[in-house]
Amino acid sequence: MLTLDFHPTGRHFLQIPGPSPVPDRILRAMSLPTIDHRGPEFAALGLKVLADVKKIFQTQQPVIIYPASGTGAWEAALVNTLSPGDQVLMVETGHFAALWQKLADRLGLKTEVMRHPGAEVWRHGVDAGQIEARLKADTQHAIKAVCVVHNETSTGVTSNIAAVRKAMDAARHPALLLVDTISGLGSADYRHDEWGVDVSISGSQKGLMLPPGISFNAVSAKALEASKRATLPKAFWAWDEIIEMNKSGYWPSTPNTNLLYALSEACDMLLAHGLEAVFARHQRWAVGVRAAVRAWGLQIQCADAAVYSPVLTGVMMPAGIDADAVRKIIYERFDCSLGTGLGKVKGKMFRIGHLGDCNDLTLMAALSGCEMGLKLAGVKLAGSGVQAAMDHFSSHAAVVPERKAA
Ligand SMILES: *Cc1c(COP(=O)(O)O)cnc(C)c1O
Repeated sequence: MLTLDFHPTGRHFLQIPGPSPVPDRILRAMSLPTIDHRGPEFAALGLKVLADVKKIFQTQQPVIIYPASGTGAWEAALVNTLSPGDQVLMVETGHFAALWQKLADRLGLKTEVMRHPGAEVWRHGVDAGQIEARLKADTQHAIKAVCVVHNETSTGVTSNIAAVRKAMDAARHPALLLVDTISGLGSADYRHDEWGVDVSISGSQKGLMLPPGISFNAVSAKALEASKRATLPKAFWAWDEIIEMNKSGYWPSTPNTNLLYALSEACDMLLAHGLEAVFARHQRWAVGVRAAVRAWGLQIQCADAAVYSPVLTGVMMPAGIDADAVRKIIYERFDCSLGTGLGKVKGKMFRIGHLGDCNDLTLMAALSGCEMGLKLAGVKLAGSGVQAAMDHFSSHAAVVPERKAA
């Protein structure tokens, strides 16, 4: 029986790749009193988060904050820049890329899906060469936007966005570059300006360590220009009124006040550590988790070592083992939530999140839960992943500030 007042002892291990574990500091920031969103205090908060979040996107250009989940920001990116019937090239790297395409279809866009040429399902990032060839063939410039997912949360595969930009430039194609970094931002290196992205889409509940409920569009000057001519219906999502009101620190409608307190706190934490250190911290965790998967003798969903995700690791099950049955054991016996396989890989793999409020020991606990659960589910393991991860973490110094004993 599921009841909401069931409280096991100790902390639940929320090792799904979003929502990620929220630091107590951020939860406390959210518990501040809700203030007047038209009052003077609010403007100070609004201006602070709008400035801070630009640093996280590594951009000098406007970032729009919506009181919505990531899906809303997906829609916002499309309706602000495109017109009915516009052709868009969407690279299907995994389940989230496929969902974004479905959303684009429903908006009345003409989507063209590009898949990795090999037989493997959802184990690779985008192939920039494939994009370049397709754009070169589009001599009439019918394609208005290229849509790519930076960190495919369903598989643990990243895509090289700088390479996509280079491919578009090499093809001399004017399409806009729209990038979903909903789960990459704040965990994996992401550079909106340097990589020449036109709209970057993100959300609160993944690398930013916040609860679900706010999402973002970082926009380029070219995207802003496009938004003046784009004719897909837009009202709530329209950038123009929001950007205008944001100049004084306010929004046209009621913003998610308490989540903005949380965003302010999250930006303080990320910027105090430094983005480079934050990215290195996630890379180090990812290496430790992959060492565990290899020691178990299991396959990593991402087949290309150049694009392993620093945010999560997809673990493939041997033939005959249902990944969700393994997850169920780990959840029930060890109070640890792991990500389910989504779409085409349902039942074939599970996902271990290494983002949000984690440290070496919370990850070791999660890996212990996995190892015990895998054994209980009858998976024949080649060796101890827990030992391999301990070896990695103990032999590689942490890149986060460490406590010092007196
Ligand atoms: C979580 C996620 C989404 C969907 O965001 P919601 O907040 O669930 O609407 C889209 N894309 C990626 C890559 C994601 O990780």
